Amino acid sequence: MALIKDTSVEEVKAASDVVAVVSGRTQLRKAGPRYVGRCPFHEERTPSFSVNPVEKFYYCFGCGAKGDVITFVRETEQLDFAGAVEWLADRFNVQIEYEETTPEQDARRRRRERLLELLDAAATFYERYLWDSQAGSLARDYLAGRGLNEEVCREYRLGLALGGTTLARKAFERGFTREELAAAGLVNRRGNDYFSGRLLFPLADARGRVLGFQARKLREDDPMRAKYVNSPEGELFRKGDMLYGLDRARAAIAKQERAVVVEGNTDVLALRQAGVEPVVASMGTALTDRQLKELGRLTKRLWLCFDGDAAGEAATLRGMELAAAQGFEVHVVALPPGLDPADLADGFEQRLGSAESYLLYRTRIEIERAADRQEAFVRVRDVLARFEDSPQRQDAIRFAADKLDLPKETQAGLAPRVASPTTGQVSPRLLDAGARLERHALAGVTAHRSLVPILAELGPEHFDSEEHRQLREQLVAGGELDPELDARAASEGIDARTAEELLLRLRERRIRRELADADPARTLELQATLARIRAAIEELASAQPISR
Ligand SMILES: [Zn+2]
Repeated sequence: MALIKDTSVEEVKAASDVVAVVSGRTQLRKAGPRYVGRCPFHEERTPSFSVNPVEKFYYCFGCGAKGDVITFVRETEQLDFAGAVEWLADRFNVQIEYEETTPEQDARRRRRERLLELLDAAATFYERYLWDSQAGSLARDYLAGRGLNEEVCREYRLGLALGGTTLARKAFERGFTREELAAAGLVNRRGNDYFSGRLLFPLADARGRVLGFQARKLREDDPMRAKYVNSPEGELFRKGDMLYGLDRARAAIAKQERAVVVEGNTDVLALRQAGVEPVVASMGTALTDRQLKELGRLTKRLWLCFDGDAAGEAATLRGMELAAAQGFEVHVVALPPGLDPADLADGFEQRLGSAESYLLYRTRIEIERAADRQEAFVRVRDVLARFEDSPQRQDAIRFAADKLDLPKETQAGLAPRVASPTTGQVSPRLLDAGARLERHALAGVTAHRSLVPILAELGPEHFDSEEHRQLREQLVAGGELDPELDARAASEGIDARTAEELLLRLRERRIRRELADADPARTLELQATLARIRAAIEELASAQPISR
């Protein structure tokens, strides 16, 4: 498959009718200059999905899904970029042209395809050994002992590596080279099979293409000591990117609007077998930034399940904190020490139902770990200060106040000020008043680009959040429009005058802050400026009543 020319991509975009495309997935109705409907990416009753027919992009206020018409086709038809462009070209009768590729590009693409083909063939080969060979009985017994049935093991393509050069020889027969085997992480430096006498879990990308394996030890005389060994990192395989089982769980995660994250691969299988479908394993105790990004495209609600011993470890807590800071709604399921989800698969839904919010969980841990009441108070206060107010935060405050037996006056000191989050994506529902002002102003400028010069004049120091400073920069530089801001302007009914007022309000806020700690010499000048800004706001308001 060759590369599509950029001009063709533009032509296809121009010819596509985004409303018609989206209408194939959900019913849309016109609302002002936009179309709205129920989101095709998450289950909802009230429409929060907004389509801009002119700019041809969409945004969902519920799940944050956003993109242009090509992204939409990629996501809903499960196609890659080129596939989505071809799909649209076909539908809207555009003749597409392909880039003349250089021999190097061709070679690179062929190489990648070869390695993927090799890894897939290896997975099939290992599968056959697990189910059909005499030597597979040990592994089959192990799986049966864990209560995993053949059906679910086959669904996840579990396999068995015999070792020696069994796989390598088979691959040579099919025309693969030793160098290709090494690049795919399937042989070691001596040319022997990388995995020997181990149960294999294929690790696939979101589209189900096998990129590597995780291998579990089955016998004590295994020369590799570790219980689990992964494919070596290489051209295709990067451990920190992977979530085990994501390809199988994708649809269920999006549909049920939740992801259950467990530690072990067998936990994924056990839960899946027990009917819990949106489940993945983290390949380690701490969630990484990239894993969260991948999950965030599907849901903002996570249930993190940990063995009671692992749950309190620093790395685990970091992963949870990272998720919470990125606007995920995080629930923690701490299992009794020594037990894992596979042991508790039946009735697991109930455990999920009674999970604690991350904040409550973290508050409890901090209290448990503190040497005395005073230290507990400080620890809890520091945790709470990092989060905006929410029902979960209120629960945590009540819990701490009760646990530490705090009188009413002291409770306020537990959660003195709500800090606005400065990292990661902000959940649209969680904005505080200040952040909302900034975001609405940016949305206003996105929708009314004649205001860009005013925004340019309004320096980045007018925005508290790093994300907003970046969005401002992007707007001023004439970069790509942000679908979320665009949809926000429409749904909030921010017209040009309102947008201008919001920009003035940002200026007003800044001057007010300066006034708060200005020396007397500057006070008068600042007050005069403030008066001017307020007059300008009045004037705008009287020119046309502002609908909020
Ligand atoms: Zn949605």
